[in-house]
Amino acid sequence: MAPLLEIDRLSVDYGLKGVSSRAIDCVSFALRAGEAVGLVGESGSGKTTTAMAIAGLLSPNARISGGQVRYRSNRLPIDDDAAMRPHRWSETSVVFQGAMNALNPVHRIIKQIAEPCILKLGMSRGEATTRARELLELVGIPADRGTAYPHELSGGMRQRVMIAMALACRPSIIIGDEATTALDVMTQAQILKLLGELRSRLSLALILITHDLSVVAECCDRVMIMYAGRIVEDSTVDEIFAQPKHPYTRLLIESIPNLASGKRVIRPIPGDPPNLMNRPSGCAFHPRCPSAMGVCATEVPSLDKVGPGRVACHLHRSSQEDKVAAHA
Ligand code: SF4
Repeated sequence: MAPLLEIDRLSVDYGLKGVSSRAIDCVSFALRAGEAVGLVGESGSGKTTTAMAIAGLLSPNARISGGQVRYRSNRLPIDDDAAMRPHRWSETSVVFQGAMNALNPVHRIIKQIAEPCILKLGMSRGEATTRARELLELVGIPADRGTAYPHELSGGMRQRVMIAMALACRPSIIIGDEATTALDVMTQAQILKLLGELRSRLSLALILITHDLSVVAECCDRVMIMYAGRIVEDSTVDEIFAQPKHPYTRLLIESIPNLASGKRVIRPIPGDPPNLMNRPSGCAFHPRCPSAMGVCATEVPSLDKVGPGRVACHLHRSSQEDKVAAHA
């Protein structure tokens, strides 16, 4: 069966004061119906640009410089905001970070959830209000709380409202862009649990954008680790946590606090994220990598199949070439 969504060698550049910098470079992956995938990386890694490109929501100074996105095998007009409108909400919806900024403070939440049903599905005001009440119940908010204004709800409740809005037009893909980042740990766990439940109940595919690897462990099947605009590792959640192959992935895992295991010392990743206006040569991670070799500063590693996933690292390319040489 063809994937629901295919991102094929997608590259995006941003222009600033006449200077162009590449935010994502030749990013490729596929998403199956009902699958949950995490895009993980530090700020500036390209995860949000990837997600916004998929939704056709890139900022005006962004330019698609290569590749394409296909939905159900059809190419999406991701560089044309007006042409993407029929697709957005109806097929792919985005839940953004910081619901307080995304919700209109002067409208009751029931009205805000009903709005996309009127605009996109052509429902009457009465039908849309009924649908909005159902959506509130679906995300765990009693329908009679629909008369509240955003400031009368907790952060977790507001994020549930954002999820209800995203579900309004029955999309098949939800993109969560740091959707739990501003929440406390308990509320974050509840929202992730809710997304997991909605995913199985509605057969939704999820793309979760986060800098926090522990978030994807909760509710994703697969993780893609991004660094300096490229995917550096892509594998199942189990494989990534049990046997991380890329040095950056290993350092990300070591930087997660784990109270259950009694791990008290958190090891931050040394060095600073790369400046995309002045990207390091070769493997962009080489200035920070504890395993860097000579070749790492000159050759960009390709994203190759290693075990059940894909890895972009010369350490693994060498072992593959050795194996090929041994069998020659
Ligand atoms: Fe480290 Fe080299 Fe692998 Fe990059 S290619 S992650 S620098 S070992």
